[in-house]
Amino acid sequence: MTHAVTVLGATGSIGCSTLDVIARHPERYRVFALTAATRAEKLAEQVLQHVPQYAVMKDDAGADAVRCLLPQDHPTTVLSGAEALSWVAAHEETDMVMAAIVGAAGLLPSLAAAQAGKRVLLANKEALVMAGPLFMDAIRDGGAELLPIDSEHNAIFQSMPERYDGHFAPHGISKILLTASGGPFRGWQADQLADVTPAEAVAHPNWTMGQKISVDSATLMNKGLELIEACFLFNCQPEQIQVVVHPQSVIHSLVQYCDGSVIAQLGEPDMRTPIAYALAWPERMTSGVAPLDLVTIGRFDFEAADEHTFPCLSLARRAFMAGGTMPAVLNAANEIAVEAFLGERIPFNTIPMLVQQVMDAHKVEAMTSLENVLLADQWARRQAHQLLQGSVNEVDA
Ligand code: NAD
Ligand code: MG
Repeated sequence: MTHAVTVLGATGSIGCSTLDVIARHPERYRVFALTAATRAEKLAEQVLQHVPQYAVMKDDAGADAVRCLLPQDHPTTVLSGAEALSWVAAHEETDMVMAAIVGAAGLLPSLAAAQAGKRVLLANKEALVMAGPLFMDAIRDGGAELLPIDSEHNAIFQSMPERYDGHFAPHGISKILLTASGGPFRGWQADQLADVTPAEAVAHPNWTMGQKISVDSATLMNKGLELIEACFLFNCQPEQIQVVVHPQSVIHSLVQYCDGSVIAQLGEPDMRTPIAYALAWPERMTSGVAPLDLVTIGRFDFEAADEHTFPCLSLARRAFMAGGTMPAVLNAANEIAVEAFLGERIPFNTIPMLVQQVMDAHKVEAMTSLENVLLADQWARRQAHQLLQGSVNEVDA
């Protein structure tokens, strides 16, 4: 029997890698739905190749554009809008959902998949950062399976004891070692970062990824979001996680045990490995990734993260410790800051400053419902926009 897969964010970097892996195993997987915000031509091309039951675009114009690119008798139904995203993610005919929308826009459909008891392949780390406790409850209450796609979390998952139940001590786990490439500006000082361009920031040394996560990698906010992601996924505290800069990006993360053992997962920096692992788990299958050649790689380097030059990592730790709505505020402010940087409206070093100012102005509320997460997200976006316009004094914190 084949598994039906919905790919949210199909036209993105993770979405395309997912379809590449699926296409290698037609006897195991078929595509149920594909979704995208823009790039109608790309989505139409994917629809023609995979013939899903549904395709969903962000808006009506996008859906019309996709319909125009398909033959009239094509069997795929093209829908649009946020409700359709959640509907395909929770549809009874889908077994697995690849959550690969970037940013807060992915929260509702990912949550819908969790509540509907799907196997959720989670790339969209922002969803977990925003609403970690609610998301983990939804996975449990929905009887869903949560498989991390982020390469570090997938590596940690692979390095954890098979029956890990959310508690370090009974399994002899002492800490998680979360590796970071350090991004394109590793070793730089703050004054050197003042004039970096979006093109320089998105030129990641080891990974080819979407623009937003590439900028997050350059500021180390990506590692901050991943720290929070790991705390929720593995039920631990930030002090149980050590960030280790490893510029080669071959060791994808490690777990240290009380007897001195350290278990790691290694591989080429290619997201098709974690994607294939999560699709096939607990089995393994080919992914198209080249075998690792250690002799060619030659050496592994490690260093501490420079949290002084890259304050986003500390901001994320602080947001997790504050708890409640603060991680959602961190995430929303960062999304606005990254967008402004990519639009060349603010310099690189303003990204952490803006995030910090929005966090400083936020009064944390307990995470009692999805509504207060969404309200905090909207508040932080407004606050960030107003700070960008220099009118902070008029904003009620
Ligand atoms: P991307 O920008 O390449 O793709 C994003 C996808 O989401 C596209 O299909 C886009 O159309 C869709 N999308 C964007 N905004 C949307 C909206 N408002 N509504 C509906 N759909 C929308 O991003 P990516 O690099 O593939 O990253 C996707 C997610 O995976 C992110 O959360 C990222 O942090 C995470 N991730 C990516 C990588 C990687 O190697 N690219 C690695 C680890 C984690
Ligand atoms: Mg990662």
